Amino acid sequence: MSQFENRELNRRFFLKATCGCFVGLGVTASYGQEILNIDRSSLCSFYPTTDRIPYDLYGFASSGEAKEIVDKIVAAVGLPSRFKIIAANVPNASATVVGSERVILYSEVWVRRLITETATDWSGVALLAHEIGHHLSGHTLDDRGSRPPTELEADTFAGFAVGSMGGTLEEAQSLFRALPERGSETHPPRSARLEAATIGWTNATRSRGERDNSACRSRWLGEAYRDGGRILRRFQYCRNGDRTVRVAEWNMLDGSWTYLD
Ligand SMILES: [Zn+2]
Repeated sequence: MSQFENRELNRRFFLKATCGCFVGLGVTASYGQEILNIDRSSLCSFYPTTDRIPYDLYGFASSGEAKEIVDKIVAAVGLPSRFKIIAANVPNASATVVGSERVILYSEVWVRRLITETATDWSGVALLAHEIGHHLSGHTLDDRGSRPPTELEADTFAGFAVGSMGGTLEEAQSLFRALPERGSETHPPRSARLEAATIGWTNATRSRGERDNSACRSRWLGEAYRDGGRILRRFQYCRNGDRTVRVAEWNMLDGSWTYLD
C-alpha cells in the first residue's frame, strides 16, 4: 500500500469513526452504547490524565476502518491483529485487558482535535500504535496502568509503526510534539517521548531499507524482443521500495537503451 493510500484510509477511518459515534447514540440495537466495566487504574493511557477518567465509561461501536487501521499497523510489523477497538469517553486513548480481550479505547473528540492541531492524520495512527505497543509489550497484563518506562516503550513502537507504514520522521513525531513539555509520575517529559518515537522510526526505516534492497533489485527482465521494426526489453526499476516495470528501446545508432515511458 502506498503512502497516499494510507493517508486516504486514515482520513476515511477518522471521519467514519466519528459518524459511528453518532449512529451509536441514536441506535441502541447493534450499534448502541454500553457501560464499560473497566478498572480505571488498569488503563495504560497516552497522556497523564488518570484523575480525569470518568467513573462511568461508555463505549460505542467503532468503524470497520478503525479495525482496518489497527490491522495495518500490526501487519506492518508482521503480527496478527487481535484487538477490540472501542470509541469511548476517555480523555485521549487507553489500552487495557477485559476478560480475555485486548481492548483499545479512544476518544473521537480528542482524536479529531489532535488531527486538526497537528495537521496530519499520522498523529492519530501513532496514537493507536502507542496503545497497540502497550498490548504487544505486555504492559496491560499487570493492572498497574501507566509508568514512564512502559510509556517510552509504547512511544518507540508508535514511531516504529509509522516508519514501517511509510510515514516520515516528522509525521512520526507529530503526536508527541502536541504534548505539554513537562511529564508526570506516570508519563515522561515530551523530550524523552520524542526521542523514543524517533528511535522507533529510525529502526523501522533502516530495516525497511534493508528489506527493500533484498526484495527489489533494479535489473533487466528477460531477453530483448522485436516489436515491428524495434528492439525492446523490459526493465525492473526499484526505488525506495517501489517497483515499476519499464520498457526500453534499443538505439542502433549509438548502442544505448532509452525508456519508452
Ligand atoms: Zn501509554
